[in-house]
Amino acid sequence: MLEQIEKLKKERGAVILAHYYQKPEIQDIADFVGDSLELSRKATEIQADVIVFCGVHFMAESAKILNPEKTVLLPAAFAGCPMADRITEEDVMRLRREHPRAAVVTYVNSSAKVKAASDICCTSSNAVKVVRSLPEREIIFVPDRNLGRYVAQFCPDKEFFYGNGCCPIHDRISAADVQNARCAHPESPVLVHPECRPEVIGLADFTGSTAQILQYVRNSDREEFIIGTEEGLLHRARQLAPGKTFHVLGGPLICSDMKLGSLAEVLHALQCMEKRIELDARLIEKAAGSLSRMLAV
Ligand code: SF4
Repeated sequence: MLEQIEKLKKERGAVILAHYYQKPEIQDIADFVGDSLELSRKATEIQADVIVFCGVHFMAESAKILNPEKTVLLPAAFAGCPMADRITEEDVMRLRREHPRAAVVTYVNSSAKVKAASDICCTSSNAVKVVRSLPEREIIFVPDRNLGRYVAQFCPDKEFFYGNGCCPIHDRISAADVQNARCAHPESPVLVHPECRPEVIGLADFTGSTAQILQYVRNSDREEFIIGTEEGLLHRARQLAPGKTFHVLGGPLICSDMKLGSLAEVLHALQCMEKRIELDARLIEKAAGSLSRMLAV
């Protein structure tokens, strides 16, 4: 199957992008593995005609928005995101009516329609920088209330209005999970993603995006780490920091949507050129504005 994927990839002029939360075997066949920001940036630099996006629907949509002339395929055709589903374009318009002076900052974990209705996008890597770059004092931050509250700590001069979304994987980690993990592994620092609840972030030693967590474990002289994010990241962490030990914070942290894709589906996507991401040209133009403003920051 690996040989067939490799052969078809060349024939189609395709590149494979994969998120850190994908299954290990998918990460291993990808040309590039990254977090949302890295993948968005990569999508703007790609020369290939076809992008096979191993992730969830909103990520493949972002790749299409940034590369409207390219064919973008999502092998796991039904991979969605419960957080992205928590906000609609109508919700954004309602929030705008309630707070007419506010800028709308939308986490990239959102649909193309929501991005199009926003002023600017952000990822967990750049959210603080994005909010600080805005002249508006009032900020509508959607859909992730946890990330919004985390960002607000670094922007005391701004007033925030939050969406009511969250990532069910990160939101399930509790303060008790942090305390239990510290008792079990007292020498290990606790590294968490900003999609975690504020009380979990308050107890952690480091908070950062997946890329920032990887950078931390690579640069640290510690040998063991407690990781509070989707456990697909551990595969990459073990590759980048071989010999170091990683413990998952709390119970299993597995996003079932991120695990929907398989090698067979990647092969099928390349054979049949499915599932193609198709977006209306006007929607692409509007959503591209929010993504491009983010990339400029
Ligand atoms: S890990 Fe959370 S935010 Fe990411 S795709 Fe899964 S549910 Fe959505």
